[in-house]
Order: sequence, then C-alpha cells, then structure tokens
Amino acid sequence: MINLVLFGPPGAGKGTQADVLKEKYQLVHISTGDVFRYNIKNQTELGVSAKGFIDKGQLVPDEVTIKMLKAKVEETPEAKGFIFDGFPRTENQADALAELLESKGTTVNAMVALEVDDEVLVKRLLERGKTSGRKDDANEAVIRNRIKVYYDETAILKQYYKKQDKYYGIDGVGSVEEITERISQVIDKL
Ligand code: ADP
Repeated sequence: MINLVLFGPPGAGKGTQADVLKEKYQLVHISTGDVFRYNIKNQTELGVSAKGFIDKGQLVPDEVTIKMLKAKVEETPEAKGFIFDGFPRTENQADALAELLESKGTTVNAMVALEVDDEVLVKRLLERGKTSGRKDDANEAVIRNRIKVYYDETAILKQYYKKQDKYYGIDGVGSVEEITERISQVIDKL
C-alpha cells in the first residue's frame, strides 16, 4: 500500500492534485472537506454538527472528524492505498491515523506538503468562491481565519512527519502538470 498525506494551507491545490494522483497511482482519495460538505448538503447528523465550525473557518472537533475518517477508510477495504486530503489537521488526528493504518499492517508513507504564499492563497480562494458556492470561500475574513488556523493548529504536523523522515515539501506554484510532476518524483521513489 501507498498512503499519502497531501498537506498544505487552504487553497494550496490539494484537491486538484489529488484528482490527478488518484488516477495515476490508483489510490482512493479521501477529502475530509468534501465528506463534510456532502453531509451538510444532505443535512445528516454529521453535517449539522460540522456546519457551524466550517462556516466560521474553524476546525471541526477531533472526535467527530476522526470517527468520520475511520468510517470512510473502512468503506474501501480493497484499496491499494489512500490519499488523505485535509486530514490529519491536528496531532490527535495524526495519532489516530497512525493507529488505524497500523491496525491494517500499513503506515503513512509520505506527507507531501504544497507550499504557497499566503497572499496567493487568499487570491485563489476568493476566485474559487465566485463559482464554488462554498460559504467559507466567499468571505475574506473567513479565508484569513482558515489560513490562521492552519498556521496555529495544523502546520506543526510538518514536524510530526519530519521526525519520522516522511516529510516532502513541494513548491505549489506553477502549472497543475508541473506540480503533479514534482509530487510524482517523490512518490516514484517511495
Ligand atoms: P480547504 O480548502 O480550506 O483546505 P477543506 O475542504 O479541506 O478546505 O475543509 C473545509 C473545512 O472543513 C475546514 O475549514 C474545516 O472547518 C473542516 N475540516 C476539514 N478537514 C478537517 C479536519 N481534518 N479536522 C477538522 N476540520 C476539518
């Protein structure tokens, strides 16, 4: 199995790259943001409990997120590997992921972190907000809060995976193809 954590601030391009990489490497893509949005749209219990946090640009509590992620992984027992996009975002989540994969006799092979300047991120997200219909993309204050939450709560996970020699920083500015090529160079050596 190859299990990748696709990492980076909001707007770094994780979803775009995951779409390409899942085909190229035959991996199952799990985007926690997409799963939350699906549940919000369908007004499930999970969606209702997550909505308030997401609309404010805050993290959904670990307990809720971890439970959802586990259930999502269990949906595809035949998977050849996963791309985790938007998860983990806290150390608790990273520990839970390690434990889950360990119980399957596997592990996170790499964290691929897309690096993009903050001002570029804000511009990209405001642009995306014009068409995505995402409330959290429509408002600059919410966007800036998401970026702040990333630095305050999530960016420390770089250290978590660096300690395990699994961290790969990737320049996230360029064409989609160029960035896929940069990431592929990492994956092909795993
Ligand atoms: P982004 O483009 O900001 O990276 P995502 O689609 O990954 O957006 O996530 C959107 C929102 O969903 C986040 O701002 C957060 O509120 C919630 N969310 C997604 N993943 C997680 C997670 N692992 N832990 C807590 N909250 C999460």
